[in-house]
Amino acid sequence: MNAKAYISHYVNYLKQEYPFLTEADSIIIRKTLFNLEDAFKRYFNKQGGYPNYKNKFSKNSYNTSAVYRKYKTKEYCNIEIDLKNKQIKLPKLKWVNIKGYRNLKEKNGRIINATISREPNGKYYVSVVFEIPSISNNYVIPKNIIGLDLGIKKLITLSDGTIVDNNKYILKYEKRIKRLQKSLARKVKKSKNYYKCKHQLAILYGKLKNARNYYLHKITKQITDNNDIIVTEKLNTKNMLQNNKLSKNIQDASFYEIIRQLQYKAKNKGKYFHQIDTYYPSTQTCSVCGNIDAKYKNLNERVYKCCNCNNRMDRDLNASINIMFEGLKIHFNNFA
Ligand SMILES: [Zn+2]
Repeated sequence: MNAKAYISHYVNYLKQEYPFLTEADSIIIRKTLFNLEDAFKRYFNKQGGYPNYKNKFSKNSYNTSAVYRKYKTKEYCNIEIDLKNKQIKLPKLKWVNIKGYRNLKEKNGRIINATISREPNGKYYVSVVFEIPSISNNYVIPKNIIGLDLGIKKLITLSDGTIVDNNKYILKYEKRIKRLQKSLARKVKKSKNYYKCKHQLAILYGKLKNARNYYLHKITKQITDNNDIIVTEKLNTKNMLQNNKLSKNIQDASFYEIIRQLQYKAKNKGKYFHQIDTYYPSTQTCSVCGNIDAKYKNLNERVYKCCNCNNRMDRDLNASINIMFEGLKIHFNNFA
């Protein structure tokens, strides 16, 4: 008997020994044992350490696979989604109401798996993976190009002069989180008030995350709708300089999310997305004459004043224009 067959057999034995296991989705019990087998295999092959024991508090999520069964002509799946009534059916559960910020009208594709998780704010989330028919590889004929400078003071400066700031909800939640963090630090560890404060903090973090994601999707949609070639810098420490740890983490997360979204949205729309190298001196170069002035490595200078051609320009706008031109070079070298 091979390991997989043995595990399936063993699950039945376990269920008799521990009746509560029958309450759980049988796929995840098997999955857990497969994972355990993998972990031991890696350990015996000296590819990993001895598997850690995980108690029921250590991980608040599980992943279950879609299983399809055909009966007569109809195909049935153990995971179902009803977008009209906004409900989801998961193994061992009844239909559960769902709320989603993307409000999809229809699902186009085959369900592969679902991850159910409980976030620290006490809310339950489910993310469902779909396999969608391959998106066409047809690129548009580019008519315009835009460069993006990601920054600390201004979230995005576009080479056409548009400025995208963090929206007021994000700033509001950030402020409240900072305040609450300070009050948490003053509380007696493991006291009732400490846990109460921690819970409130978790709720705020959840709200911030949702507000940020909603806002970033709106921005990246606009940018990929209106432009055919989109250029950003690769993320580097220049963007990451920040005195406060909290706002740094939030900012980093926003940058990564912006780039991730631009990348896949551009692809889906047949647009081009290029990233220029981190060592390219976008803030030091004059976007008019190309002169490089090392003093603009310094973040405090808000206006770029060229000592060669007298160009005066907002520092971030100057950088975004340079990024755009560098992107244009990449584009012509690779695609034209
Ligand atoms: Zn110049």
